[in-house]
Amino acid sequence: MYAKAVAIVTGRSDFEEFKTLAREAGYEIVDVVKVRTLRERGLSEQKLRELKEKMERTGATEVVCDTDLKPKQVYNIAKEVKTAPKTRIEIILEIFKRHSPSKEADLQIKLASLQYELARAREKVRLAKMGEQPGFYGLGSYEVDVYYNEIKRRIQSIKEKLEEIRRKREIHRKSRGRMGFKTIAITGYTCSGKSSLFNALTGLSVPVGPEPFTTLSTKFHTLKFGPWRCYLVDTIGFIRDLPPFMIAAFYSTLEEAAFADLLLLVVDVSEELPEIVNKLKASLKIIDDIGYRGKPIIVVANKIDLVPEGRLGIVLSKIREFGFDPVPVSALHRINIDRLVEKIVSHLGRAVEIAVTIPYGQDGGGYHQVISYLKEFGEIRRMTHYPKAASITCVVPEEVLDSVSGVVRKHGGKVRTLGYVGERVVVQRG
Ligand code: GDP
Ligand code: MG
Repeated sequence: MYAKAVAIVTGRSDFEEFKTLAREAGYEIVDVVKVRTLRERGLSEQKLRELKEKMERTGATEVVCDTDLKPKQVYNIAKEVKTAPKTRIEIILEIFKRHSPSKEADLQIKLASLQYELARAREKVRLAKMGEQPGFYGLGSYEVDVYYNEIKRRIQSIKEKLEEIRRKREIHRKSRGRMGFKTIAITGYTCSGKSSLFNALTGLSVPVGPEPFTTLSTKFHTLKFGPWRCYLVDTIGFIRDLPPFMIAAFYSTLEEAAFADLLLLVVDVSEELPEIVNKLKASLKIIDDIGYRGKPIIVVANKIDLVPEGRLGIVLSKIREFGFDPVPVSALHRINIDRLVEKIVSHLGRAVEIAVTIPYGQDGGGYHQVISYLKEFGEIRRMTHYPKAASITCVVPEEVLDSVSGVVRKHGGKVRTLGYVGERVVVQRG
């Protein structure tokens, strides 16, 4: 599933991060060509040769670059290696596309792509006119003007569509969060370990590290945390140094996080302390910017296996200064995941402990229906079988109590409320 790529590395962005980004976009970096500064025309003869050799040796068919490139630079490299190098911005736009959760986000991403294209169109047009880029998009100099105006027209049309969506949006938002599903979104910087945590929490094998990228559906999973049915989302990573024209598209891909009931903010605690603090601050700003307010955030201090204990204590107390009670974990080595789950459960809301009595009935049909309903919408704690009926102690989220009671009564059973759980104290309510 991955396309092998050789990376042109200028060192203008963090290489580990770039590698993760490239992977998210579907490129496996198999070798690198280090370049201190890019030439006006792209690469020097020597570096071009090196690039070509490395592609041949590794069988790579793609080239990725850790920084932005001008059309002329792209063109000159492409002429030599028969493939256009993908710039950092193009890679990020590809990731946005893969993560797009909605029609609106699709449009925002399309808009950013067109804006990127427009900024470069002038130079492309100039190159085409000078005959320096013959056959560019198969266009002659008249057509390039058309092409330029066409991009502008499409930008305008997308802006109008977005405006219309914004007006209608409120209606759609209401449909979320029905049926007692809680949305939990995993957020954090690229490379902090979000997908690893998603895996640890679901036991599902979504691609992490060098495994192939499969489908988008691996970003979502429904599972139970205590009595809660949850929708777990592995969101797009926060990315450093995003150009301003991409911010709206980026935020739109975070829609799932904005509407979540709970955010897990993954922090890589193996990084340097100032870096951790900067990223934490920036993360909180992004979370606020996308409109996630007044709802809980659990800070997950990840990669503790890489941190000596003394240093971990310092990092954790620094995070506490921001008002959080971080949960130290290793997503990769599955350390403390149970502790995190406990914390998640305690943040999802109030649950009620109930005692259900349900007769087996004639054919047991109603009884089985009730049991599976309780399993789905709650958590069964104890079950005792008597000759004619079963007695079940069960915990259900407060918001589904009424519908659960309704189902039990419909099948001739009884429900008695024992008290609230989740606030640590069980209040007896008779
Ligand atoms: P994402 O970009 O936030 O989804 O991060 P990934 O889950 O893809 O992880 C990025 C890198 O960090 C991968 O190489 C993981 O194997 C590694 N990683 C994630 N969690 C841990 C951890 O707890 N300990 C260590 N040592 N590495 C981890
Ligand atoms: Mg990931």
